[in-house]
Amino acid sequence: MKENEYLQQVANLAGLRHYPQQGPWNKKSGSAVGTRDNYVTTIGFTQNGRASVLVILLRFKKLDQPEQVKSALKSAAIKKGKLGEIGSNFVRWEWTYAFAKPKAEEVAKLAEDLRTAIKPVTTPFDGRCEQCASNSTNSLTLLNGLPMFICATCQEKVRQELNQAAVNYDAITPNYPNGLVLGLGAAAVGGLAWGLIAYAINYIFLYGAILIGFMVATGVIKGTGKVTRFGQIIIPILTVASVLFGDVIFYTLIVMKQEHVAFSGKLLNAIVVHLWQIEMKGSGVLSVFFGLVGAGYSLYSARKPKFQAVFQPLGAPNA
Ligand SMILES: [Zn+2]
Repeated sequence: MKENEYLQQVANLAGLRHYPQQGPWNKKSGSAVGTRDNYVTTIGFTQNGRASVLVILLRFKKLDQPEQVKSALKSAAIKKGKLGEIGSNFVRWEWTYAFAKPKAEEVAKLAEDLRTAIKPVTTPFDGRCEQCASNSTNSLTLLNGLPMFICATCQEKVRQELNQAAVNYDAITPNYPNGLVLGLGAAAVGGLAWGLIAYAINYIFLYGAILIGFMVATGVIKGTGKVTRFGQIIIPILTVASVLFGDVIFYTLIVMKQEHVAFSGKLLNAIVVHLWQIEMKGSGVLSVFFGLVGAGYSLYSARKPKFQAVFQPLGAPNA
């Protein structure tokens, strides 16, 4: 049976409604949502690695001691599925299955058993906003897919709080000179270390290039204060320069050793002029690529935080 059809059936049996596309698990089949005895109940599918999981989420008024819910569920000794997680205002129950989905009747029964088990130690909702407990709130709203009772005032508050991180990030004034100095420093130190290490072990250790890229990017971002267009442009340039600088050091040292010549500007110049040919024979292209991977990783992890609070009414069209 298709997930859509199945959830429709579960919803009917469990006294919920099926909302395709909606719910916390980001699936096309959506989830079955509703309140039973004023407990917000959500049933849907998710994936745990390669295993398919049927999830039942029960929400109640915020508790001080969620441990009680755990012991209540334990003494209920429910056989189907197992406890996923307990929070201060929810229980997540997970039923992992291999091929055939659990019987819809059994799922509906399970949702009821779970609710019965936690009833003595939890308080159901009461038609008021669960955040401020004052404004009357009768319909469920999805916060990033999670059904809850939250009034318009509190929605605005949550939105502002969650988006604060992004706002703060925007408010940082980038310090370009600082970014350039730290980036150049990282590129110089990284390149030098890369060349000297390669000489010492007589081998160009490619993964070192990832580290260089990472160092350069981290230096620039730290100096600038955030990821900027400026950084996105100079980081790859500095990374490539650093790797090449390291290679120049490496090859210069190699030639000095093999040909028994002293260091001179002439030698250095010859290496630089022929660097392209040398690199094409060696692993130059690869090390540049590895360097960019490291830089990309650092840029990615320092990107603007995306804490977004998206509120959506249940059953909204085109959700
Ligand atoms: Zn409120």
